[in-house]
Amino acid sequence: MTFATLGLIEPLLRALETLGYQTPTPVQAQAIPAVLAGRDLMAAAQTGTGKTAGFALPLLQLLTLEGPKVAANSARALILCPTRELAEQVHASVAEYAQHLPLTTYAVYGGVSINPQMMKLRKGVDILVATPGRLIDLFRQNALKLNQLQTLVLDEADRMLDLGFSEELANIYRMLPKKRQTLLFSATFSDDIRLLAGQMLNDPLSIEVSPRNVAANTVKQWVVPVDKKRKPELFVHLMRKGRWKQVLVFAKTRNGVDALVDKLQGLGINADGIHGDKPQATRQRALDRFKASEVQILVATDVAARGLDIEDLPLVVNFDLPIVAEDYIHRIGRTGRAGNTGEAISLVCADEVNMLSAIEMLTRQTLTRKMEPDFEPEHRVPDTDASGQVVKKPKKPKKPKVSGGGGKRNLGKWVDSGEVAPAEPSIKPVRKVPVFNTGPRKKK
Ligand code: AMP
Repeated sequence: MTFATLGLIEPLLRALETLGYQTPTPVQAQAIPAVLAGRDLMAAAQTGTGKTAGFALPLLQLLTLEGPKVAANSARALILCPTRELAEQVHASVAEYAQHLPLTTYAVYGGVSINPQMMKLRKGVDILVATPGRLIDLFRQNALKLNQLQTLVLDEADRMLDLGFSEELANIYRMLPKKRQTLLFSATFSDDIRLLAGQMLNDPLSIEVSPRNVAANTVKQWVVPVDKKRKPELFVHLMRKGRWKQVLVFAKTRNGVDALVDKLQGLGINADGIHGDKPQATRQRALDRFKASEVQILVATDVAARGLDIEDLPLVVNFDLPIVAEDYIHRIGRTGRAGNTGEAISLVCADEVNMLSAIEMLTRQTLTRKMEPDFEPEHRVPDTDASGQVVKKPKKPKKPKVSGGGGKRNLGKWVDSGEVAPAEPSIKPVRKVPVFNTGPRKKK
């Protein structure tokens, strides 16, 4: 199959040739004809599957061949993304695909001044890429009208809900014209996403290009058990031992990112960090420098976990496990992209056992554990497996102590002297792991 057989027009084929895309990926092969035929789409596609071109190419073609010229302060297509970085990246891809077409494209997001964005929208843009909050601001300030909108794309819809954008999406929904084409892309499909799809989509075609909630199998994944306080030391040790060249590291909190970056920089290691507290320009600069290999270690919160396309990233390290198990899939999706192989290493301490278990249950695999000599944890990480169970190790029977009362104390029971009480059951009843709250979270 070629892009030409999918019915794409010559200016798009020419752009794809320049980019070196020869064969459509599975999501592209399914999505392109469906979108060209005007269908709504509900697509389960992991990052790295080529989903951006899957929606952008047919969208560009429809906008070129159909519909009136864009009016002032209007957009003909809107692509909603969860983060500023993803909006920039999607916009860059769309602009590349559109390089031979007479269409205008633009990206708007928060964290930067709104005035230049309002100026730019005056003439209208054919394709607007936006994060939800800034889109609403622009709409409320009359800088943007949506009555000319032909197509809405919800990219990384699950991430938008995870980041707490459900209210914004409901508001945007009320701003949209009833007659439109809607394409929803999501790496994972929770009940909330299905609810959103039920509201927003009209008789959608379902596309699933990878098994639900299964991480890319091109990524070799393992876990190194370690005590929490020794994680920074272990990280530096593994980095030196493995001669890591370029690593994306995920930490749970903004403070965690800053602390690790400080530690690495203190050791003369070329590291930088991105998280929600940093100004947009600083975040973008760190990301650009990492992409250009000017920064060796980029430490990030989950704000960077989704959608960012960094070519040939060989390694992702989970310094902390994510609180929401599905974020694990997105994090490790930063490596092993477009058919390359990658590695994902998670440093796991005893506190994180329930998160580990939830990840194994979600990805339906028991992650291999590799103990690092000299870093064996004092606080053992209990065994886990893909069934979602945490297995407590048998407790060693305590040595009976001689007490003043002549009896022996054994596991809390008093027994007559000379008698040894039967040990407690050797394996504690297996405990079900609590399901993690996947509801709206605070914005990162
Ligand atoms: P995405 O999943 O849209 O973020 O795309 C992942 C990466 O695959 C990006 O670097 C794209 O440029 C690249 N890509 C997408 N489609 C193709 C294709 N058909 N052939 C080669 N590379 C592609």
